[in-house]
Amino acid sequence: MLDLERDAVVERESVYQPEQAGLIFPQLPEFASVTEERNHLKRQLAVACRVFDRYGFDYGFAGHISIRDPEHTDLYWTNPMAVPFSQVSVGNLILVDHTGKVVEGRHAVNQAGFVLHANVHEANPDIVAMCHAHTVYGTAYAALGKELPAVTQDACAFFENHAVVNDEGGAVAVKQGQGSGVVEAFAGKRAVIHQNHGLLTASRHSVDDAAFWFIALERCCQQQLMLDASGVPQTTVSAERARYSREHVGSDYIGWLHFQPLVDEILASQPDLLD
Ligand SMILES: [Zn+2]
Repeated sequence: MLDLERDAVVERESVYQPEQAGLIFPQLPEFASVTEERNHLKRQLAVACRVFDRYGFDYGFAGHISIRDPEHTDLYWTNPMAVPFSQVSVGNLILVDHTGKVVEGRHAVNQAGFVLHANVHEANPDIVAMCHAHTVYGTAYAALGKELPAVTQDACAFFENHAVVNDEGGAVAVKQGQGSGVVEAFAGKRAVIHQNHGLLTASRHSVDDAAFWFIALERCCQQQLMLDASGVPQTTVSAERARYSREHVGSDYIGWLHFQPLVDEILASQPDLLD
């Protein structure tokens, strides 16, 4: 058994006790072909966009969710230019290369915005999905240029698993091929707080995982701003306990699992997603 598979089993057992065997519990998908896997990934990408709509993450045409194609790994599926998250469906997704050229689909891409995703994907071959949006609390917190302190169990998911990047990225879009602190900062990390810009998350597991931890990071930023505004001194969790929390309730698999109720809710209420 691969290490990743073994880790997934251990993690599953931490939330799915053996005495519950036979009861309904979300199962990781399995695929008989790469086409089946691609179709599933595209559906999950469209679901993630609808979830971002639900959370109010739209800001004009800003914001992207991208996934690496399972067969053509130098190509990425993403949401189309100037289509609100609420109207993204499987049928209007676009396939884009590293340079920001659309190779499949009817819609254009927001090249200035997408190129940052392309650069991160290209420099980090293990990253399969990435999310970015100009959210209220994440963008405000990012302007402070501070790491997220581990003051809650939820924030522990980002302990030693995110980076703060200050390269004035908020003011100028990164050009293709140009170095960006964000690209390097994602090595081995789940999230980047890009000062003067906003939040970005990435996953080596699934788009479900990347999208859930994006929601979680935005929420943690909101909570941290509230805590800072309270003026009450805060106590951070010890490094040892923060690491333990991250590994047990803040893993990639747990992110995937957290996302499944959202998937069910969107699929049940928004069947046009599959158009
Ligand atoms: Zn942006």
